[in-house]
Amino acid sequence: MSKILIVEDEPDMVTGLRDNFELEGYQVIVARDGEEGLKKALEEKPDLIVLDLMLPKMSGLDVCRNLRKNSFDSPILMLTARGQELDKVLGLEVGADDYITKPFGLNELLARVRAHLRRATHEVSTIENYAFGDVAVDFQKFKAIKNGTPVELSPREFELLKFLVNHRGETVTREQLLDAVWGYDAMMFTRTVDNHVAKLRQKIEDDPENPAFIMTVHRVGYRFVG
Ligand code: CA
Repeated sequence: MSKILIVEDEPDMVTGLRDNFELEGYQVIVARDGEEGLKKALEEKPDLIVLDLMLPKMSGLDVCRNLRKNSFDSPILMLTARGQELDKVLGLEVGADDYITKPFGLNELLARVRAHLRRATHEVSTIENYAFGDVAVDFQKFKAIKNGTPVELSPREFELLKFLVNHRGETVTREQLLDAVWGYDAMMFTRTVDNHVAKLRQKIEDDPENPAFIMTVHRVGYRFVG
C-alpha cells in the first residue's frame, strides 16, 4: 500500500484529499505546517508528498529544498494557487516533480498521483541504453541514433519508446501508454497514442508502414520486439 503525506494547512482541503486518497486505498499521513511536514516526511518516508506552497512556519519551497538535500527521493507534487507561476518554476528547481494549480479537479490530481507512484516504482528497473536494429537510444541523455545519424525525438516520444522497450515482448494497451506517458486515464484520448506511435515509427523504423520493432496488436495496443 502506498503511503501519501499531505502537507496542507487548509482543513477543508486536507479532509477532501484525505478522504479521496483513502478511498483509492492509500495510507494517508497529514502535516499542518512546513516544519511538521519536513519532520514527518523524513521519519515516515512516504511514497509521495502532496505539498502546499503557502504553509505556516516553513514554506513548501523550503520543505522541498530541505527534503532533496536530505536525499529524500519520492515524488513531490506541489499545490500552487493561481498567480504563483514564478513559484512553480522555483518549485521544479528545488526538486518538486510536478505541480497542480488550485482550484483543481480531483480526478486530475488522483490521476497524476497514480502516474507518479507508478513511475516511481518502475524507475528502479528501467534501462538507460538500448539498441535494436540500426537504432541506439540513450534514454538518460535523450539521444537517439539511427544508422549513424541522430534522430530528433520529442520528450514524449522518448517516454513512449522507453515504456515500450521496458515492456518489450509484452502487449501494452493504449490506456497503459496514456497512463504511463501522459499521466492520465482517458479512453477518449487513445488516438493520441496512435498518433505518437505513428510519428515514432517514421523516425525509427526502416519501413514505417511495415514496422519491424513497434508492432500493432490488433484492437489492443502495441508490442515492442527487438
Ligand atoms: Ca496553504
